[in-house]
Amino acid sequence: MPAEQTNIKVVVRVRPYNKREQEQNQRCIIKVMDSSALLFDPDEEDDEFFFQGSKQQYRDISKRMNKKLSMDFDRVFDTENSNQDIFTECTAPLVDSALNGYNCSVFVYGATGAGKTFTMLGSDSCPGLTFLTMRDLFEKIEAQQDVRKFEVGVSYLEVYNEHVMNLLTKTGPLKLREDSNGVVVSGLVLTPIHSAEELLRLLELGNANRTQHPTDANAESSRSHAIFQVHIRMTDRKTGTKRTVKLSMIDLAGSERAASTKGIGMRFKEGASINKSLLALGNCINKLADGLKHIPYRDSNLTRILKDSLGGNCRTLMVANVSMSSLTYEDTYNTLKYASRAKKI
Ligand code: ADP
Ligand code: MG
Repeated sequence: MPAEQTNIKVVVRVRPYNKREQEQNQRCIIKVMDSSALLFDPDEEDDEFFFQGSKQQYRDISKRMNKKLSMDFDRVFDTENSNQDIFTECTAPLVDSALNGYNCSVFVYGATGAGKTFTMLGSDSCPGLTFLTMRDLFEKIEAQQDVRKFEVGVSYLEVYNEHVMNLLTKTGPLKLREDSNGVVVSGLVLTPIHSAEELLRLLELGNANRTQHPTDANAESSRSHAIFQVHIRMTDRKTGTKRTVKLSMIDLAGSERAASTKGIGMRFKEGASINKSLLALGNCINKLADGLKHIPYRDSNLTRILKDSLGGNCRTLMVANVSMSSLTYEDTYNTLKYASRAKKI
């Protein structure tokens, strides 16, 4: 298979227990075996340290068997790995690829509460992939100023209920149209930036504009996909040759199924479209991983927007975020299944 078709990297990030998970005497359902393998739903006997607190006193033999699924990924990041670790191993190389002319994209996938936004945006003390990656981009640009001229512009979009909104200005829903260059977001103006610090202010502004709807499943859940894109225009100072590449970082909506959020009416509709976009993304990635020719980008607005940033000559990183607590058994299982399907070649 040509190298171009194997450029999807899938990594898993296991987050530490949150307070609720810590307080309840639950089971650990992920055993990280090494830097690229994990065991999902291991047997109790496999490791006496699996159980937080006391070891279970007896085994309920009427219970279903443990799945004991061993799964391989390009990388498994354990609870003690930081955003900086993921940046160094996974997204710093993407910056090099972008400067070498490839469109790149980074997705964080997982259920609400699994750590997507923490991975992408981080916190004040622990910046996320977006900031770390952009800071690296500006450093690398600085080092090449003599050879090439760079113009950097960003956009920050939200796909919510299949509506495309600009998070950096308050306008109504934007239309997508197709022209000879691909899919264009009508009326979208890029914001020029010159430093990673400028970017932080833009992200803050954009995040304040994100659609947040509390749901039964989690008050902080976000039902929207946030798409941050950096457009880099490079002009060779000697030859005048121009080249434009895009680096996209996408904080996907929670992947938990609509059925589990007891949604009705509007909420229900949101759930349906989130599944539509996530399903479409999964289908596209699977078909790309399988090396197929026809990729169903048109199936959702998320995949239409990302058409030129997925597959072909692009580099894609998927970070699947999971919790290792049995409280999130179904979500973790579904996320790992989605991730391993994306990895299958
Ligand atoms: P999501 O965006 O997937 O819904 P969040 O990123 O908001 O999830 O994470 C849920 C909570 O868990 C947040 O309070 C976040 O700070 C915390 N959290 C997530 N991942 C980590 C991590 N790797 N280390 C420490 N805290 C984390
Ligand atoms: Mg989030």
